[in-house]
Amino acid sequence: MKVNPFLWTSTTSLTKAMRDAFYKSFIWQKKRETILERDEYLCQVCMEYDDPIPADTVHHIVHLRDDPTLALVDTNLISVCFDCHNDLHPEKGFGQKKEKKISRKIKTFEVNENPEQTW
Ligand SMILES: [Zn+2]
Ligand SMILES: [Zn+2]
Repeated sequence: MKVNPFLWTSTTSLTKAMRDAFYKSFIWQKKRETILERDEYLCQVCMEYDDPIPADTVHHIVHLRDDPTLALVDTNLISVCFDCHNDLHPEKGFGQKKEKKISRKIKTFEVNENPEQTW
């Protein structure tokens, strides 16, 4: 299946097959690379917590299915890590952001707490 995101309007309803085809398309792969570069390959959500975590996903702030016209708009795209991406999609039923952030902070804290521990 081939898709042409430039023909999409705000009322275009994207099927799963269309979204899959979009994410596989050359134009998306290229755009994704541009956004990761712009964000220095760091998760922009974690950066708000001063936590430089490598990003591996480019997320649509307004979801693709909600407004297909924003599919390739830079200001609607943000680099995020795997965990944050799950948090941004509660509809997929993954865990809650706050708990995850707190447990990550605690982990860091514990490591710093015991610098002389060698085991
Ligand atoms: Zn993150
Ligand atoms: Zn997303």
